[in-house]
Amino acid sequence: MGLVTAGITRQPAAGIPVKGVTILGATGSIGVSTLEVLSRNPGQFRVVALTANTRADRLLVQCRQFRPACAVMRDSRAAQWLDDRIRKEGLPIKVLTGTEGLAESVSRPDVDIVMSSIVGAAGLAPTLSALTAGNRVLIANKEPLVMSGRIILDTLHASGAELIPIDSEHNAIFQCMPAGYQPGTSEPGVKRLLLTCSGGPFLRSSTEEFKHVTPEQACNHPKWRMGRKISVDSATLMNKGLELIEACWLFSVKPDQVQIVIHPQSVVHSMVEYQDGSVLAQLGNPDMRTPISHALGWPERIESGVSSLDLFAIARLDFEAPDFDRFPCLKLATTAAHTGGTAPAILNASNEVAVQAFLDRRIGFLDIPRVVEYTMNRVPVNDDRELEQVLDDDTRARKVAIQFIRRDSVSHTQPLSFGNNEIHVTGNV
Ligand code: NAD
Ligand code: MG
Repeated sequence: MGLVTAGITRQPAAGIPVKGVTILGATGSIGVSTLEVLSRNPGQFRVVALTANTRADRLLVQCRQFRPACAVMRDSRAAQWLDDRIRKEGLPIKVLTGTEGLAESVSRPDVDIVMSSIVGAAGLAPTLSALTAGNRVLIANKEPLVMSGRIILDTLHASGAELIPIDSEHNAIFQCMPAGYQPGTSEPGVKRLLLTCSGGPFLRSSTEEFKHVTPEQACNHPKWRMGRKISVDSATLMNKGLELIEACWLFSVKPDQVQIVIHPQSVVHSMVEYQDGSVLAQLGNPDMRTPISHALGWPERIESGVSSLDLFAIARLDFEAPDFDRFPCLKLATTAAHTGGTAPAILNASNEVAVQAFLDRRIGFLDIPRVVEYTMNRVPVNDDRELEQVLDDDTRARKVAIQFIRRDSVSHTQPLSFGNNEIHVTGNV
């Protein structure tokens, strides 16, 4: 997305309260885009806390520019390094670490808005803390919604917090909802949600070609620049499957009410079909700064830096049905959505393991759905009302997925079969 070029230095306009913002996952693709939007709207926002996993050097650069009150490195050694540098430079920034540090960064009294943009299930605990504190939570981090949407909504409703979708499709759907609509509630006039999907980098590739896909190719998305995990999910179309489950929770609809629509231009970000036959769509250039600005400013509109949509240059918009056979992850996610309970948590956990193994070149691209299907067939589904149960099933699924990958990698004489196919493992987990 490019470098952030300006800090927030101007004074707020008289009478407009400055909103305190925490960014969970500040060094990632969404985090950097969020800082860029904040830079364009000086005087409206103050960066209260920035958090990251291990890249303390990147967080230090952001700290110098945005001067948050608090910086959190999840990793304690990285936090120590950051703290040393911050003391040496005399910056008035409190450095925290671990899950406690993340929880504090979202529940400080000077926080109004939390951007939840950690990748994966690791974002669940701080997202719940942000909601419990009653803040406006901008949710990019879709995995927690997939694994424990019920608990997130229960927490939202109990605390009176606000939840605004950042995922471009869900933000589009939110924008197509009637004024006053609150995510997490059902809208009686809605018949279907039309969830658009670019198709990823391999929309026209054959299953034979999938065998040779490298992490670099999978991460080279034709329309969006994103972190590596979501890029791989976009290549397998698991991302759209996760988004189907995300949509069911955010807009209180059944899986059958969500139609996935392949739309290679990525201009229509999604649509809402109403009972009277009206279909409302949100359009724009594929740039995450649009949903980020929308959610930061909502219900006002603020500057995003995104260029105007040039419909003459785009010229045409195509739509087609998804191919569930070439993209089995879509099928697996749809099954998990229909099964309910902890099935989506099991799907998500095994997918996180498989994607990491693929990125580390331990398994091939085609093995990703195999690992997920194997795990889904072996881990029993439970009720998803208790967080402990969801976390237990997440842990169990990760163990099964890791064992499946590891067992095959050390036992080439007895290859495990997965349906009719063998799993291709190129290293050790
Ligand atoms: P990314 O990999 O670029 O960044 C992830 C951020 O999370 C980094 O700041 C990293 O330090 C932090 N992080 C990683 N593991 C952590 C851990 N265990 N504990 C604490 N912090 C950790 O990812 P991204 O592309 O920005 O995506 C973030 C989330 O937003 C994902 O859930 C993704 O699905 C969702 N999302 C991203 C996009 C996009 O355009 N990038 C679009 C829609 C949704
Ligand atoms: Mg999306």
